[in-house]
Amino acid sequence: MKIGFIGLGNMGAPMAANLAKAGHEVTGFDMAKVAIDGVEMAASAEAAAKGRDVVITMLPNGAILRAVANQVIPVMQANAVLLDCSTVDVESARDVAAQAHAAGFSALDAPVSGGVGGATGGTLTFMVGGDDAGFNTVSELFDIMGQKAVHCGPSGNGQAAKICNNMILGATMIVTCEAFALADKLGLDRQAMFDVVSTSSGYSWSMNAYCPAPGIGPKSPADNGYQPGFAADLMLKDLRLAQQAAKAADADTPLGRAACALYAQFVEEEDGKGRDFSAMLPRFEKRGRG
Ligand code: NAD
Repeated sequence: MKIGFIGLGNMGAPMAANLAKAGHEVTGFDMAKVAIDGVEMAASAEAAAKGRDVVITMLPNGAILRAVANQVIPVMQANAVLLDCSTVDVESARDVAAQAHAAGFSALDAPVSGGVGGATGGTLTFMVGGDDAGFNTVSELFDIMGQKAVHCGPSGNGQAAKICNNMILGATMIVTCEAFALADKLGLDRQAMFDVVSTSSGYSWSMNAYCPAPGIGPKSPADNGYQPGFAADLMLKDLRLAQQAAKAADADTPLGRAACALYAQFVEEEDGKGRDFSAMLPRFEKRGRG
């Protein structure tokens, strides 16, 4: 396929490299100067999009996605697919898809989980919103960039799935860290705590696969000085998107709201910026109830 790839940062660059390695003809564009093996660089977003079968975007937020969509949709060829893999607000995803449909082609929102490691290794999970035709056209690209793609329904539903998942993750990580800090104060050994919870009803991905306590459970960012991994800043972004969506949909999400406020405090007022989101544990360790 002829692929245009716009937004070649931490995630986009390895994803584009994997598509090129698999034999697709990839033309890239990024505002910053980047060079990727096998990817030809274009001088503008329009030039990267024109004449391509699929245009992939991997951008920081909804406002930038809207701006790039305004540039590329008018030059995209008929029957092309616009495939946005960024994490953005549901409304921007739906508006951009409507704009693409009005111009006569398919658009998919397909945010990912798996982080930079998953992007590099081609093991991302895609959560996809949009029509069947678009999904079927790009499914071979999902197979190259990822290990799984779940079609979640119409436009915006990929973003909806992503923020609901990450709202669960954020709240669960916080309570897992709280519980470790409480266990410490009660004199409960961390290994015993892990052995019980990881095989009892309190188990979760945060405890079992990504344990926030160093030296306990499988290897995780806690064993690496809380270097991300999944940065607290990115968790905060996703929790804010969840709250924005909850507000728009009039959904009551008290724990999601509390998790968002706590990560905001951690990242913006404390030492959470640039640290893994599981660094909530050393945060709680240092604190009393007060
Ligand atoms: P990044 O900041 O490394 O990359 C974004 C790229 O977009 C940058 O290279 C930037 O120069 C480029 N860009 C910005 N505006 C542009 C424009 N108008 N035209 C062309 N290029 C432009 O971010 P990232 O870590 O690659 O994340 C990309 C998206 O993936 C985000 O939406 C993020 O939330 C999501 N995501 C990231 C991770 C992760 O672990 N990094 C995990 C899952 C999802």
